[in-house]
Amino acid sequence: MKNIMSDKPNILEVKDLKTWFPIKRGVLARTVGNVRAVDGVTFSVKRGETLGLVGESGCGKTTLGRTLLGLEKIHSGEVILDGSSLSTLDRQTLQSMRQKLQIIFQDPLSALNPRMNILDIITEGLAQFNMLSDRRETVASRLMAEVGLSAKMMYRYPHEFSGGQRQRINIARAVSMKPEFIVCDEPVSALDVSVQAQIINLLLDLREKYGLAYLFISHDLSVVSHISQRVAVMYLGRIIEYGPTAAIIHNPKHPYTRALIAAVPVPGDRRRGKIVLSGNMPSPAHPPPGCHFHPRCPEVMTVCRKTFPQERDDGTQRVNCHLY
Ligand code: SF4
Repeated sequence: MKNIMSDKPNILEVKDLKTWFPIKRGVLARTVGNVRAVDGVTFSVKRGETLGLVGESGCGKTTLGRTLLGLEKIHSGEVILDGSSLSTLDRQTLQSMRQKLQIIFQDPLSALNPRMNILDIITEGLAQFNMLSDRRETVASRLMAEVGLSAKMMYRYPHEFSGGQRQRINIARAVSMKPEFIVCDEPVSALDVSVQAQIINLLLDLREKYGLAYLFISHDLSVVSHISQRVAVMYLGRIIEYGPTAAIIHNPKHPYTRALIAAVPVPGDRRRGKIVLSGNMPSPAHPPPGCHFHPRCPEVMTVCRKTFPQERDDGTQRVNCHLY
């Protein structure tokens, strides 16, 4: 696949990553199966790039983000950050590598400790890692200015802020650690539409200023398309289409991607509304045989019910579908 940022090195490489949760039954709690939340995912992110990860709720995108952060256990596969495989590092090196990886959560209020004021929240990580370069108040006011908040507010508590301001605090906390890669897990979906654009613009400004790379997780393809250079479409734990944003939006190949675009207003796209997706996503504990999308696919063929489609790469997009 052609790489639109091919001159830049990878900050993150993910190879055949699987995150499975065992299903236990009986008094002996025997493992009788696995919930395959992430089931063989491969992608890379360049320095300064945003990869959008899109899919319906329950497709595994949040579990994928949490696995990259070390918040979920890897079943198999590899996560390589800045050239180092995270599973091979000793504890101390892993800790220092983790500073490079931060997360911004969906719900800005529950991500903030209600008993801590903003000064403590923003400088907590820096103090913990002995990274404070100045007085805490000075560092906090610099970070608050960076995200568009007045330093006068640093002694206030999370409940005294609006949703957009709280997300700015979360962003300041993430940026304080001088990360190189940030997982943005649905960072605007809990916010009013009017505030969403402001937060997206702030993330774009910070990406530009610090050369940050993002994994931008969202169920909304229109939001993802605003911030991402490339997009990965996820369905039932797997990436089923992957490519440059313009190609995914204007020339979607997989019927699921076309359904997502049909479901979301995309200005100027006349195909919108032509595909109606029926049914719900199957359980990742019992994925259907063959192509996992076949029970809902409007273009299903006999082969789809039996054989999982191999990945096809046309030099621009990767797609898993028997139509190609
Ligand atoms: Fe639809 Fe078949 Fe393609 Fe799956 S492989 S998306 S069922 S056409």
